[in-house]
Amino acid sequence: MGSPPQLSENERAQALLKAKASRQERARIKSQVKSNELSIAEVLELAKQNEVIAKMRVLELIESKSGVGKIRGKAILDKLGISLTRRIQGLGRHQRTELLKEFALPSALNRGRLVVLSGPGGVGKSTVAKKLRQSSPFLVSVSATTRPPRFNEVNGIDYLFMTAEQFESTIKRGEFLEWAEFAGNRYGTPLAPVERALSSGKSVLLEIEISGAKQVKAKMPEALLVFLEAPTWEELVSRLEGRGTDSPERRAARLALAQEEMEAASFFDKVLINDEVERVVASLIEFASA
Ligand code: 5GP
Repeated sequence: MGSPPQLSENERAQALLKAKASRQERARIKSQVKSNELSIAEVLELAKQNEVIAKMRVLELIESKSGVGKIRGKAILDKLGISLTRRIQGLGRHQRTELLKEFALPSALNRGRLVVLSGPGGVGKSTVAKKLRQSSPFLVSVSATTRPPRFNEVNGIDYLFMTAEQFESTIKRGEFLEWAEFAGNRYGTPLAPVERALSSGKSVLLEIEISGAKQVKAKMPEALLVFLEAPTWEELVSRLEGRGTDSPERRAARLALAQEEMEAASFFDKVLINDEVERVVASLIEFASA
């Protein structure tokens, strides 16, 4: 590579001014996209005559769309096979068409519903999720965890079992929608399958603990948060006590946690009492289509 051209002080000042004007122009376009004054299709058209817009990164453009943001923006480009560093002027014809299709309808119309099922450990969330996995309108997300598999669990079906190192690097790559530590292990929702399903119009169910549910609400405010409650406290205790798959120490830790978790119900959009699994399943299916 040759050495950069020597600029006079005046030329440098001019270049700085030009860069500043370009930044301002891009910021203006992004704020118009955010407020829906400009559609993605209109920005692509403008880019044909405007060099500054043409040089804008596609990721920067779609991130500015209300409800998209950084994580979802990356997932959309990933799905469409568009590199994260691609600029508008570098889009191929096919990529352009796919991008336009992706944003052709207001996102609320063509996206599936994200339903988050949460509640204290031991309340029966996983039984409900298992039923929904067998047959329902939902894609039931498969979480990653650092917890070792229980004897009856299958990798890739019940969980994606990971080492602590694998989990850590997945966090660093920004590939979790949310993750949390629970009773000494880490659990996280892989973002890409969730995003793929939602943008193809399929509803998604996450069965996760409470702090993860709160993270999802912060990132995707349109998510419906459902809190599953045990019919009585005694019932919850007996379920946790009766878990043959956990050690006594782990059961005691989970009981203490469950007590705290019960108090989180008020944060949720809906509360369902788990007195009958079939009824809970039916309500969740109804929420998906509402
Ligand atoms: P378990 O070890 O009994 O399978 O799950 C322990 C807790 O972790 C449960 O409350 C379950 O809902 C929660 N959990 C499972 N997957 C995830 C996840 O991806 N994210 C979060 N935040 N919690 C999860």
